[in-house]
Amino acid sequence: MKALDELTFDNRFARLGDAFSTSVLPEPIADPRLVVSSAAAMALLDLDPAQAELPVFAEIFSGHKLWATADPRAMVYSGHQFGSYNPRLGDGRGLLLGEVYNDAGEHWDLHLKGAGQTPYSRMGDGRAVLRSSIREFLASEALHALGIPTSRALSVIGSSTPVWREKQERAAMVLRLAPSHIRFGSFEYFFYTKQPDELKALGEHVLAMHYPECLEHAEPYLAMFRQIVERNAELIAKWQAYGFCHGVMNTDNMSILGITFDFGPFAFLDDFDQNFICNHSDHDGRYSFSNQVPIGQWNLSALAQALTPFISVEALREALGLFLPLYQAHYLDLMRRRLGLTSAEDADATLIERLLKLMQTGGVDYTLFFRRLGDESAPVACSRLRDDFIDIQGFDAWAGDYQARIAREDNGSELERQTRMHAVNPLYILRNYLAQKAIDAAENGDYEEVRRLHSVLTKPFEAQPGMESYAERPPEWGKHLEISCSS
Ligand code: AMP
Ligand code: MG
Repeated sequence: MKALDELTFDNRFARLGDAFSTSVLPEPIADPRLVVSSAAAMALLDLDPAQAELPVFAEIFSGHKLWATADPRAMVYSGHQFGSYNPRLGDGRGLLLGEVYNDAGEHWDLHLKGAGQTPYSRMGDGRAVLRSSIREFLASEALHALGIPTSRALSVIGSSTPVWREKQERAAMVLRLAPSHIRFGSFEYFFYTKQPDELKALGEHVLAMHYPECLEHAEPYLAMFRQIVERNAELIAKWQAYGFCHGVMNTDNMSILGITFDFGPFAFLDDFDQNFICNHSDHDGRYSFSNQVPIGQWNLSALAQALTPFISVEALREALGLFLPLYQAHYLDLMRRRLGLTSAEDADATLIERLLKLMQTGGVDYTLFFRRLGDESAPVACSRLRDDFIDIQGFDAWAGDYQARIAREDNGSELERQTRMHAVNPLYILRNYLAQKAIDAAENGDYEEVRRLHSVLTKPFEAQPGMESYAERPPEWGKHLEISCSS
């Protein structure tokens, strides 16, 4: 276990030079105070979790203090936002604070979001508000606990610094961890600005740092692109299987590592709704829940375009063609598991589709349905769940087919099926109304609720005595919370 001043920095991205990032110091926020920290994320840096309570922790992660060996940088990138190319984005309010190696030799980017203005801030103030910082923190740690690849969050530090959005709010900073903050848009930037040497340097950096096994391949860039396609297919299958809606799948928010990245107006589904749009500003539903799959492929083709100097168009097309079948295979596998199935039958896809249709028309809670289905023997569970559906006859027919299907499984007892299901079907997810309650308290200076919610979400599959209320469907006020892009 290390103290904060014992971290080992090796700022390899910073050393790529000024074409890739600009040296900027964080601008501190006033009266820093720890809102919440993640012991699990601290462990990634070998940090003793008790360090979070020290005043120096809040000072560092609010921009007041800095390691002499860190090299804070604002990274440049561009990207496709809602389908249109924006030639210049970049870290407008976040900084790659430094790059750390842990004792296991893993590389972690420390990224401080809300750290003040940079050359990429355009009209923005360089700040992040407390509510969006808390949302990013909780989402990162909750997705990780669900087994969904994601950037991590170390801490949220609150302040008294005022920030103007629709109303006056307070500034905060979230410390994000990821093995890399390089995005699809980082490649697009060097491609569209016609900087072939820099594009190549970026590609070699990513290959060496994050896809070293691809260097053995005859065509390393193609091998890397295939892996990126594979990882995104798996990632998006997990989002769809668990009801996570990212909200702003612009190519500047897509990680080159295939992890969930750059949280904005994201949401987990409460009632199942294919057409759910979590981003209030997404009027056309470009990033609606079901569109995440084709948009995932669209984003990969935008990345492919930026890689045309290294890979033939034909090979890129072929690799892109892997996306849908891989996605479907992962999705089907996850949904089978959610239903407690261990074998595969051709008709399973139809069984799943029929269920989702019934849930859609019935407004059935997506998370609780699967959890409850594993609470008891299938006939008892189904007879309890049928009242949640509007098309009760349709559900009864489905339940009959489901029970016949599990009867054909040659895999242990009913009890084993229930245990298997509970291990993959969470009881607790980050529902918007739960986040909102924690945010309301935090905005009044009370951080207990954020910390409790964080703690509950770190064990989403385990029933936690006393925490039953965290598993409940949203109350009326919490059903249609409008989450905008302003953060
Ligand atoms: P996002 O929607 O958070 O992914 O941000 C899109 C772009 O806008 C990125 O280049 C951000 O750095 C920039 N940006 C967002 N909010 C701010 C802000 N308050 N100040 C400066 N830049 C911002
Ligand atoms: Mg972004």
